[in-house]
Amino acid sequence: VHLERIREVEPKVKAFTLVTDELALQQAKEADKRFASGENLHPLTGIPIAIKDVICTKDITTTCGSRMLENFKPPYNATVMERLNEAGIVMVGKTNMDEFAMGSSTEHSAFFPTRNPWDLERIPGGSSGGSAAAVAAGMAMGSYGSDTGGSIRQPGALTNLVGLKPTYGRVSRFGLVAFASSLDQIGPFARNARDAAILLQTIAGQDPRDGTSSPTPTQDYSAALSGDIKGLRIGVPEEYWVEGTQPGVVSAVKESIERLRELGAKVNPVSLPHTKYGVAAYYIIAPAEASSNLSRYDGVKYGYSYRDTTDMWEAMEKTREFGFGPEVKRRIMLGTYALSAGYYDAYYKRAEKIRTLIKQDFDKVFAEYDALVSPASPTVAFKLGEISDPYQMYLQDVFTIPANLAGICGVSIPGGFSEGLPVGLQLLGNDFKEDTILRIADAFE
Ligand code: GLN
Repeated sequence: VHLERIREVEPKVKAFTLVTDELALQQAKEADKRFASGENLHPLTGIPIAIKDVICTKDITTTCGSRMLENFKPPYNATVMERLNEAGIVMVGKTNMDEFAMGSSTEHSAFFPTRNPWDLERIPGGSSGGSAAAVAAGMAMGSYGSDTGGSIRQPGALTNLVGLKPTYGRVSRFGLVAFASSLDQIGPFARNARDAAILLQTIAGQDPRDGTSSPTPTQDYSAALSGDIKGLRIGVPEEYWVEGTQPGVVSAVKESIERLRELGAKVNPVSLPHTKYGVAAYYIIAPAEASSNLSRYDGVKYGYSYRDTTDMWEAMEKTREFGFGPEVKRRIMLGTYALSAGYYDAYYKRAEKIRTLIKQDFDKVFAEYDALVSPASPTVAFKLGEISDPYQMYLQDVFTIPANLAGICGVSIPGGFSEGLPVGLQLLGNDFKEDTILRIADAFE
């Protein structure tokens, strides 16, 4: 059914860099066998799932939306992929994304932009726009993306899905092509909190191959969905009502907050005073880490290689000139500058200090609150080409970035509509409180 749906709508939506239909049919047969024998069944056995093209899939191209990795077939699976394969998923394809996960619209894929199934003239958000569009258009029942500064929550918001960024360390990053290693997490897109709980459960937990993955035990996320949030303390950060948020988004979010009250939650305003420095700190830290992570693309180890020269330096220069798109180059330059001698203290070190202050803001608030609620994105889905200024694009993530800097978990959930387009509500939870935010998400549905 999903492959048929892909045949029907994918030419318009363009969510996939690769549709793995043969593999999907083979995996579906294997799932049938598992059902017939009744053994090794998992809630995801036989379920069609789409995977962002930044997650390594053995012998299957993993492009990261870049010319640099256009023909790259990893020799191993990401840990997340291994767990999904064990569960017996049916992988329908690899999904389009902003190059190396840098962007908020999926217009910066080196191949083609992805469109929002709610309005094909509009972007689905990014950088995991392909994963969001695939589920929103019914081409998969769930999908996975990566979130470094909002790349799951913002596209989730813009396509009316549940998009969850786990706590840093909750999910293994082994085999996730690195953008900013201290911020990156893999997480699910789903149509509802119940599906999201299963999709998270399957990939969560410590992995000896990722030293930053946490030994904290996982919870039973499905069991946490009690449907009852009476007495839960939910804070509304005052600093998240910023200028530039569309009035339609503000009113939809305010209505949602009222609904949380009606459901019995105790909702009160709170303050996270360092919020306003979040975007600035992120755009030092993320590019700094990216400039280091992306130095591996030298035309020698893997990926695209410019060979039309006998000069090693020219080969490297040309490899990077042709292999990377403009946004990636901008980040590499920003990051290299911020880390260079003489500027390190002025930029990188100060950004890290802000990061600590932002974490302390959250610690204080979470001492008294179970969760926070805010808009997930300042706007509804915009038109392709509408935002050409990189800084305007960076501001798409004002509400999502602080959670990555602090390492806490967050989820965006359907929060009403403005002018016929979905508005996302963001719920933030303290470290390893995925159960709490999913419980609220579920009760809210
Ligand atoms: N839009 C942000 C950026 O461009 C976040 C991207 C992400 O979360 N991968 O960096």
